[in-house]
Amino acid sequence: MPQRIVVIVESHSGRIAPASLEAITCAARLQELSPAPILGITLGQDAWPTAQLLAAEHGLDALAVEAEGLVGYSAEAWLALLPELLGQLAARWVLMAATSQGQDLGPALAARLNAACIGGARGLEADEDGPLFVREVHGGKLLQRLRPLSASAVVLVQPGFFAPHLAGAGPAGQATRQRMAAVARRTADLPAAGQSQAGASLADAEVIVAAGRGLGKPENLSLMRDLAALFPRSAVAGSRPVCDDGWLEYRWQVGVTGQTVSPKLYIACGISGASQHVAGMRGAGLVVAINNDPQAAIFNEADVCVVEDVVQFTPALIASLRAL
Ligand code: FAD
Repeated sequence: MPQRIVVIVESHSGRIAPASLEAITCAARLQELSPAPILGITLGQDAWPTAQLLAAEHGLDALAVEAEGLVGYSAEAWLALLPELLGQLAARWVLMAATSQGQDLGPALAARLNAACIGGARGLEADEDGPLFVREVHGGKLLQRLRPLSASAVVLVQPGFFAPHLAGAGPAGQATRQRMAAVARRTADLPAAGQSQAGASLADAEVIVAAGRGLGKPENLSLMRDLAALFPRSAVAGSRPVCDDGWLEYRWQVGVTGQTVSPKLYIACGISGASQHVAGMRGAGLVVAINNDPQAAIFNEADVCVVEDVVQFTPALIASLRAL
């Protein structure tokens, strides 16, 4: 059986996660350097419709894995199934997006497979000995090139560095489904506790309004929500102090110890631009920064720099956008 490039694809509410579409692009580049068939794997309740979408729209061969007890993401359940399945598939490369899910699953899966684990791959190169993955270290100050020495490798693809795989190019792939034995669980999935804020997840958001300590007080987060509400597929995120102080839950934190995001538009409000924050939003498309300090480091990352008091400027911005 030929060795395969497998992409573990995330979906949310029936939509393929943009970060997974980037992982598919990375897989396609890897295929050019190290020829092998690509297979997308989906798991859980949306597995079959997502596999069909991958095959029909992205031309990928896709395998939907279904099992009793497999609903949403669970490291425990997925790790009970994936090692055996990936062995059967002769997976040489296992790619997934470096989302919070990928960062949870990837290293544990690599340990089970006795495989190399390459986190945060943002580029792909090759020399005479084969593919090399490029990743940032020290918050983006240095680049590291890594070649796996093991028989298989798990690669976490950093969002924001590969173009999302385009739908509609090329012939359709083949979707298949595989029923596996029920997963013995030590935990049960309960309905998710109410979302603390409406809108998209950070992984899915096309527009992120990010709040920093410069907002002054948590009540001013309502300005961020009003601004975000003007855009479809938007979310409000925060810097670490904002989450440390309980203004937002940690799952909305952007940065090295939070989420890595790649929205089309990132509006940084009252954020200084510390390297630990910037490492999480460097993959954003257009960056707008609002800060009252013209020397703020965030302006080094911004395409549009607004030197203003964010609490006074944001209502005016919202009013102007509403008037468009
Ligand atoms: P501040 O640094 O306090 O900056 C506030 C900014 O708001 C300033 O630039 C100020 O000029 C501006 N401002 C003040 N008032 C106004 C106003 N009225 N209008 C407009 N602008 C105003 N940070 C993260 O964000 N994410 C991480 O994942 C993360 N991980 C870390 C991991 C480690 C190991 C360490 C050591 C630190 C980490 N940090 C992280 C913290 C990071 O170093 C910074 O302390 C943090 O990002 C600063 O947050 P901030 O920009 O909101 O606040």
